[in-house]
Amino acid sequence: MSHKVMRIFHPVGQGAFYSERHEVDGQKFNIVYDCGSFNVRHGTKIVEEAFVANERIDILFISHFDFDHISLLQTLIRRSQIRKIVLPLLHEDVRFALSGYYHCRMARNHSMQPFAEKSLQLLNDPRSVFQDERAPCDQVEFVFVRPYVESEAEHNQERRDQLNAAEEFASRQGRNRIINSRSESDAKSLCSFVDWMFLPYNMDYFNRNRALVQNLIVWLEQNHYSLEDLNDGQFFDREHCKQLAGIYKSLKGSINENSMLLFSGPLQQQNQCEVSIMCHSLTPSWCFRGHLLSCQPGCLYSGDFNLKQESLSQSYGSYFDRIGTVQVPHHGSEHSFDLNNFYARGMICPVSYGVNNRFGHPDWTVIDDIVHAGGYPIGVTNDRFSEFKEEIRL
Ligand SMILES: [Zn+2]
Ligand SMILES: [Zn+2]
Repeated sequence: MSHKVMRIFHPVGQGAFYSERHEVDGQKFNIVYDCGSFNVRHGTKIVEEAFVANERIDILFISHFDFDHISLLQTLIRRSQIRKIVLPLLHEDVRFALSGYYHCRMARNHSMQPFAEKSLQLLNDPRSVFQDERAPCDQVEFVFVRPYVESEAEHNQERRDQLNAAEEFASRQGRNRIINSRSESDAKSLCSFVDWMFLPYNMDYFNRNRALVQNLIVWLEQNHYSLEDLNDGQFFDREHCKQLAGIYKSLKGSINENSMLLFSGPLQQQNQCEVSIMCHSLTPSWCFRGHLLSCQPGCLYSGDFNLKQESLSQSYGSYFDRIGTVQVPHHGSEHSFDLNNFYARGMICPVSYGVNNRFGHPDWTVIDDIVHAGGYPIGVTNDRFSEFKEEIRL
């Protein structure tokens, strides 16, 4: 059997757009992880060039609902034929809290409106995103990934209720399915390769978000509103937004950190497999094309996840040893990455960011840490030549 993978980190600027083209004995299988950029005009061209018209995308994974990860979705929907879309399932109260967050941003800053609207649409009515583009959405299957809990014992009644409500929401999205995080048997239902798997992991944020949700409920009840009102655009006048913004700030970290991770890699650890990497960057120190025979072919896609929080070797268990490439989360923000997890391993670390972005991404210390840990930071920007490719042969 021959299995070839072309993995591409596309140069969309401040955003995220990654794809893998698998060819197994002549059969093709395409996946995409996130599809967005703050620079929509530039990003649109990149998406159009990435796929020929009507090309099939077998699975589209969405890490979270921020604009810079979804803004190019319309182009992708128009251009290609998406078969499955895999999204994180959010506890019902967190979905409302997140709606309120996007509504607030929109009301406080009108230039954010088109951005936040798209996020809200995908969050609350994902089917309509396809309908808007006149894509026949009954052909698209929506797969929701449950938040991961270590054991059933962690399920208290409140968490169970929120999850049940979330599953009911998911079941209203036309063709749909709900799968478990990090479940090998559920992952097999996404694709039938015998030597490769796509393993999504939606971390459970129930406890982290608890205080925020409770603070929101207290404030809403004092004002005779309910959590559901956070889904209603009419609700967000200047005064409400000001007060709500204070409540959202009370959360440690940011509410939109909830990114769904994806491990894409071989079912078995590879002793020897060929990974060719192609980096076209014209910056002299980063310009190379080479073969890394010792590199593991698995990739961890991380969206804007906070990789500091969690020891990945714990959360991804045995898969961890098959990861040779890790997408640096959150565009290289200093708040999101800690190489302790990857210490002393020669990881390839692509980081997506827009040149001259206003957030100061990537943070210098993040890049420095990667180099010190023996890793290879690869900048993927809005410069076309910064496209980064890995060609893998199993
Ligand atoms: Zn984000
Ligand atoms: Zn982002």
